[in-house]
Amino acid sequence: VRSLRKTYRNGGHELTVLRDIDLTLEEGDTCAIIGPSGSGKTTLLGLCAGLDDASAGTVKIDGQPLETLDQDARAALRNRLVGFVFQNFQLIPTLTALENVLVPLELRGETGRQQDAAELLKQVGLGERLDHYPLQLSGGEQQRVALARAFIHRPKILFADEPTGNLDAETSGPIVEMLFRLNREAGTALVLVTHDPSLAAKARRVIKMGGGAIIGEEEHAR
Ligand code: ATP
Repeated sequence: VRSLRKTYRNGGHELTVLRDIDLTLEEGDTCAIIGPSGSGKTTLLGLCAGLDDASAGTVKIDGQPLETLDQDARAALRNRLVGFVFQNFQLIPTLTALENVLVPLELRGETGRQQDAAELLKQVGLGERLDHYPLQLSGGEQQRVALARAFIHRPKILFADEPTGNLDAETSGPIVEMLFRLNREAGTALVLVTHDPSLAAKARRVIKMGGGAIIGEEEHAR
């Protein structure tokens, strides 16, 4: 990420929510992004994953500058390399939990992986909820479906916006363990936006944002 800037224009008003962000994430690394509400964490995550366009600057994933790719090429790169967990989950309401988890595989043309998707949902504690639709699930259950959907295709980098935000301590423990196991075993880099200090403490790097800028960074020993 180089000199990344995002300005929103609402009516006659301009609001710069990210100012000249520079950030390099190494393959397989783990990084937490912390900071007060409104400091730009979600916006940064979305730009890094190519879900939105920057006003200036560049984001490269695996050497590819996202701003030079058209929508289809960007979607293809995301399907190949990126997993994303939205703060509000963004599950597809007309698909069951199992079908939601299968979406990234279908986008890659991989069929017949129902068993793998069911197994992953079992691992996040939803083995009894495979055929439930999002509206029939609690917030925490939807969050776990969203997590399973984000890593079914073994992404190289997983972005998660408040991955434990809707979970109680009992449920979040195994989910956090699963995220970091994915990092250790599959080498998936993690970029986690969180207000949870115990989750941030597990990441090797902790980046602190304030007012649309990176205002501090800590590194933890692994
Ligand atoms: P939180 O911890 O509450 O999720 P955040 O640090 O993730 O906050 P962002 O969601 O990135 O913050 O928002 C940063 C700023 O950008 C906020 O002031 C927000 O109001 C503003 N913002 C976000 N999206 C838009 C939009 N589409 N149009 C205008 N302003 C926006």
